[in-house]
Amino acid sequence: MKVEDKKVVQFLYVLKDEQQQVLESTDGEPVAYLHGYNNMMAGLENALSGKVVGDKFSAELTPEDAYGKRVEGAVQRVPVKHLQSAKKWKPGMVATLETEQGTRQVTVIKMGKFMATVDSNHPFAGKILTFDLEVVDIRDASVEEITHGHAHGTGGHQH
Ligand code: ZN
Repeated sequence: MKVEDKKVVQFLYVLKDEQQQVLESTDGEPVAYLHGYNNMMAGLENALSGKVVGDKFSAELTPEDAYGKRVEGAVQRVPVKHLQSAKKWKPGMVATLETEQGTRQVTVIKMGKFMATVDSNHPFAGKILTFDLEVVDIRDASVEEITHGHAHGTGGHQH
């Protein structure tokens, strides 16, 4: 079985920037996704396509294939209480921000008592990213998963 549309794929990854600094890692906990349903960034789905269980490989993604280019001046003032994932904030920290379009990651520039100034570029925007990937499982998606457009169970969507 290989990675293609309507398969649920589990994989491990280590994400590095151009300086080989590790930005993120699955740490032995695979991520599961439904292939072909825009659940992963396009560059990553393309790299995984056609691979089989046990394949280990690297994929280099340009900003266009990953988190997009940096937009200069994408600075916003937001209420401090909307920043999530830490209690005390310092410039340079990455916060999760609840917006009407869903959650997004932003970088704190300046903190006030009630309002924070943030850079709304994704922290990885503008970076050339390397994913070291390992495919650990591939299975057929269930009818329910295809209807929902995402993977269920281990590493996937929990309802
Ligand atoms: Zn679902």
